Amino acid sequence: MKMNFVLAKIWGVPVGIHFSWLIIFALLMFSLATGMLPGALPTLPLFGITLVALATTLLFFGSVLAHELGHVFVALRNRIPVRGISLFIFGGVAQIEKEPESAGAEFRIAAAGPLVSFLLAGLFFALAQLPFEFIAFPASWLARINLILGLFNLLPGFPLDGGRIFRALVWKLTGSAYRSTKIAAITGQGVAFAMIGLGLFNAFSSSLANGLWLAFIGWFLLNAASGSLAYASLQQRLSGIPVSQVMRREVPQVPSFLTLSSLVQQYVLGLGKRAMVVGDATGPVGLITLAQISQVGRARWSMTTTAQAMTPLQELPAISPETPLSEALSHMTHRQLELLPVVVEGQVVGLVSQEDVLRLVETRQRLKLG
Ligand SMILES: [Zn+2]
Repeated sequence: MKMNFVLAKIWGVPVGIHFSWLIIFALLMFSLATGMLPGALPTLPLFGITLVALATTLLFFGSVLAHELGHVFVALRNRIPVRGISLFIFGGVAQIEKEPESAGAEFRIAAAGPLVSFLLAGLFFALAQLPFEFIAFPASWLARINLILGLFNLLPGFPLDGGRIFRALVWKLTGSAYRSTKIAAITGQGVAFAMIGLGLFNAFSSSLANGLWLAFIGWFLLNAASGSLAYASLQQRLSGIPVSQVMRREVPQVPSFLTLSSLVQQYVLGLGKRAMVVGDATGPVGLITLAQISQVGRARWSMTTTAQAMTPLQELPAISPETPLSEALSHMTHRQLELLPVVVEGQVVGLVSQEDVLRLVETRQRLKLG
């Protein structure tokens, strides 16, 4: 899910908003201002209704964000980096950069989100007891929404929080992270199918819009659960194989002072290279690929050096020829990197790419090596 703009940074973590979230924001505010609020607060003038609708919508948005911040807070405390929080049409997602190392950490990170939602539900329930109808009514609505948000997320379907809690418990019981992901993902597929079925049934029997909405969320979860399942089986297959089996030992080196236009002319178009190690007098200093080159606008290629556009080596995870492929692949997918340098004592001895890993998997499948 690509974010369209970054709203703010909280604890150093960017909060991104997808365009689809704005649709939900507008729809919610419109339905509050024209349907729910005028009915409940008949004496309030239109201006007041609009203000209450705006405040309620913002607080709803804040509630979803607070739920995600709950996950982020506990992840950061367990020294797990978080790439960002994304808000999109189905709610929010905290993008945790790597899998927690223990079942306990997974459990705490997953449980923190619903816990925040339940605390907010309690807080809004207390506010709903105030004698001012224009506060009490939206507060009781927000209390209900937060309660639903917490409960819905506790459904045991991976990748929902409840699915992650379930996965942490299976992990604790079986001792195997891969196996627990598999079991949780299969359960997640079941929950997703149930949601799609229930949604379609509702759509035809009672409420078309609510039913279709539930079915859509189910479909989204089904995709996510199936993706996790495929990823877990892949990880399991790769766990015993070292990086040295697939890494390319021939590493094209380019000087750090070269401009991007010369780099593209000589190396990319000229020699067909797509990934190069950038070196200076001290040795290798960074990695440059098509992704980094294309990030710099073409008009600035003649003024930008490879050193300015590269990803410095110290920002990349340390991979050695003995690192298991499963670990290398997990770094690449979580950080969205096409490839990684393989380093021994400060020297780049090879490159490992997602493509090479997938080719190995395919080769092993065709040879029926599992
Ligand atoms: Zn959550």
